[in-house]
Amino acid sequence: MQRLQAFKYELIPNGEQVRKMRQFAGMARFVFNRGLALQKERYAAGEKKLGYAALCKELTGWRGAHLIVVPPHHTSRTCPECGHVAAENRPSQARFACVECGYKANADHVAAINVLRAGHARLACEVSGAVRPPAAGTHRSDSGAAQRCA
Ligand SMILES: [Zn+2]
Repeated sequence: MQRLQAFKYELIPNGEQVRKMRQFAGMARFVFNRGLALQKERYAAGEKKLGYAALCKELTGWRGAHLIVVPPHHTSRTCPECGHVAAENRPSQARFACVECGYKANADHVAAINVLRAGHARLACEVSGAVRPPAAGTHRSDSGAAQRCA
């Protein structure tokens, strides 16, 4: 007989944590409403609805921030230590274990490292106009040969 067990937790935040969560929710609501207003303005002007990436770019640009779009290919399969790219590096959805060098970590953490590196590479490319790999070495075909910025 298989026994299934579950745990239920209740979050009991202190006053400062409640304040921070409300602040975050208010900020998310504000940005959502701003995005909605942008889409309504475009619709009223007879323009095409913005896609996800274009809307992100509009919303970050509106507050003076800079959005860097990074191709997500292989970001969760690439080892941040040795650069080895393989599907086998992901034994499960949550775990990362490099079959080449043995590096182990949480899969989301590894993907975040790779996305950050790809973003830095893209930013360096935008700033200098120099050469860079498309997603900072996260491609199977990437053998260290740099490509032109697109
Ligand atoms: Zn490795």
